[in-house]
Amino acid sequence: MKKFFTILIAALFLVAAPAQAENSGVGLEDISAEKYNVHIEKFYATLPQAKGDYKSRVRPILIEGAMNTETEVLIHALKNPVAYRELNYLFVAGTYKNYPVVIVRTEIGMANAAASTALAIKKFNPIAVINQGTAGGHDSALKIGDIIIGEKSFDHTAFRSAYSAAGAGIDLTKQENIGTYAYDKASGKFQAYTEYFADPTLLKVAKKVAAANKNFNVVSGVIGTGNTWFECVDYINFLHEKYGSSCEEMETTCAAQICQNAGLPFIGIRVLSDNVTNDNRYVPEAAKVCQDFVLLVVEDYIRDVLKK
Ligand code: SAH
Repeated sequence: MKKFFTILIAALFLVAAPAQAENSGVGLEDISAEKYNVHIEKFYATLPQAKGDYKSRVRPILIEGAMNTETEVLIHALKNPVAYRELNYLFVAGTYKNYPVVIVRTEIGMANAAASTALAIKKFNPIAVINQGTAGGHDSALKIGDIIIGEKSFDHTAFRSAYSAAGAGIDLTKQENIGTYAYDKASGKFQAYTEYFADPTLLKVAKKVAAANKNFNVVSGVIGTGNTWFECVDYINFLHEKYGSSCEEMETTCAAQICQNAGLPFIGIRVLSDNVTNDNRYVPEAAKVCQDFVLLVVEDYIRDVLKK
């Protein structure tokens, strides 16, 4: 029942902008403003700071989010949180449902996602990794607040364009995706992957949680990653048609790539904060809905897969 109300309140955030952001004490109209970030930073500064290395009897689940808006709910959900810093990335370790969980604020973009994921893997030895946060829609059937479980992800900037001569004009729709390089255990080499698949077990759990919680609008689909923010609907439609992308964001594929290197189960889960194919708004507080959903996935994973 409590869970139902939490979710209901999260859903109301999307329609009732003047409401107060949960835990933050900052109005939602300020959520992407400096005031919000200052407030959250103050809260993070109150967390006990780690002394020495992370020690846990069991391997934690690692959950990633790029920004404060995308990590705040998760960090508040941890019991006995302890903050770690490495190369100025923030990691918060604690427990959720009595199981160790680490949240990393990856910061925005591809390089940060890769670097912070690699550091987290070395530092915390996670058993599974979930990258989550906001995204822009590539599918006009999806609306702001809808959640996309990433069956797979790909780097939509990793392409080779067709040759065209000087003065012939620019047409980037003539392209071939050349993938990004990750370790292949079978050959013992790095090779190009044009897509990264979600771990089947994490995918199954996420879909089961979606089916059992109809208050979230969830689809499974393809997550496109790049240090780009497209507002050109024709190009978005092109990506959607050529690659089947449901949404775009800046981190998932990079985290997937590093998890592939490390042989770790990975899934990306995203919520639409914007969708220029059918809406002109940017609603960063949608990030809360994604975190609420991810916490349910983590709970089921702990209970049904890790059997703790
Ligand atoms: N103005 C925002 C900046 C967000 S940058 C702020 O500072 O609050 C983009 C971040 O949001 C990235 O982490 C990316 O993963 C996600 N994102 C959401 N919608 C996106 C879109 N349409 N294209 C690319 N990234 C998007």
